[in-house]
Amino acid sequence: MPEVNPDLANINPDFAHSIYRLRQKYLALHKDGKSKAWISKDRLISGAGSSIYVILATRGCRWALSEYGGCSICGYIYDAKLKEVSASSLVSQFKNAMQKFSNLIPPLGIKIFTSGSFLDDLEVPLEARKKILQLISKNDLISEVTFETRPEFVKHDKIRECVEILEGKYFEVAIGLESSNDRILRDCINKGFTFNDFKKATKIVQKEGANVKAYIFVKPPFLSEKEAIKDCISSAIDVSKVGINTISFNPCTIHKGTLIEKLWKDGFYRPPWLWSLQYILQETFEKAKNQVSRIICQPVAGGKKRGAHNCGKCDKQVLRAIQQVSLLQNLESFDHLECECRYLFYQLFSHQSLS
Ligand code: SF4
Ligand SMILES: [Zn+2]
Repeated sequence: MPEVNPDLANINPDFAHSIYRLRQKYLALHKDGKSKAWISKDRLISGAGSSIYVILATRGCRWALSEYGGCSICGYIYDAKLKEVSASSLVSQFKNAMQKFSNLIPPLGIKIFTSGSFLDDLEVPLEARKKILQLISKNDLISEVTFETRPEFVKHDKIRECVEILEGKYFEVAIGLESSNDRILRDCINKGFTFNDFKKATKIVQKEGANVKAYIFVKPPFLSEKEAIKDCISSAIDVSKVGINTISFNPCTIHKGTLIEKLWKDGFYRPPWLWSLQYILQETFEKAKNQVSRIICQPVAGGKKRGAHNCGKCDKQVLRAIQQVSLLQNLESFDHLECECRYLFYQLFSHQSLS
């Protein structure tokens, strides 16, 4: 079992143990993970554009493989290899993924996900990290680079090295903070780090001349829709105060083999309403937009029962509006959205105001 050093003061042992037990059950059914790549519209720092998404199949997230079981909301570990993956194999995965794309049109970003942490040497050996970044650096069509990592792997020397290799490109380190509320991180998500750990990592990245993107999770388990909305807005305000560049709201998608899936199957959880996403974006644009470069929300499985959804009749138009707001960074697309389910949604909050 890989070594992890979580902030034990922010671990709920019983909660972590229940996630661990569930994780072991599903890991036993695991099939060999494969790399994936696709391209889709994205809001870049320079404006509306596209991004290449590459998911490398590594050994998997150290936190999910630990005795603490990983995050209650995440099943990415089931896409991993669960065994050591050599540097050369990761570089080949990356090259093969990039070969899929021809006639790329700038402005173009690239996002590298590992279903864990790109800066964890156990997942991505230094040699592979350097080679992959060098390949990106040589590609003149790509102007923006993002990879994801947990904050404990953010170190001055690692970030400095990335900045040096990617010289001239906009470079962002994405951290799945999920919430700035330590109690939610501990009792709802089992994140294994605190908001303070996020702030420390942010300082390191900024000191080395790079940028930070914070993922905020929309609707952790055990929160009502209203509590989740409030938490997203207050988390966005909190991260905007530490000088990050991008806020990305990540609405829940029910992954297989997770605690949140169990709650959902047992009738104790519903993924967020798309109306909630609209409300969160509106409030955040008003309260935090001046402090950050962009606020985005790209629901996965939107309109489906495992993703953020409304009544089924209005889902497509609301999803399109959310996509446009993210791309254009203005709220105009939300004008004139209506559906009878909106009244049902507001009934959820009728006894209390949202503000
Ligand atoms: S959300 Fe991130 S840190 Fe948590 S288990 Fe998934 S990959 Fe690991
Ligand atoms: Zn509707």
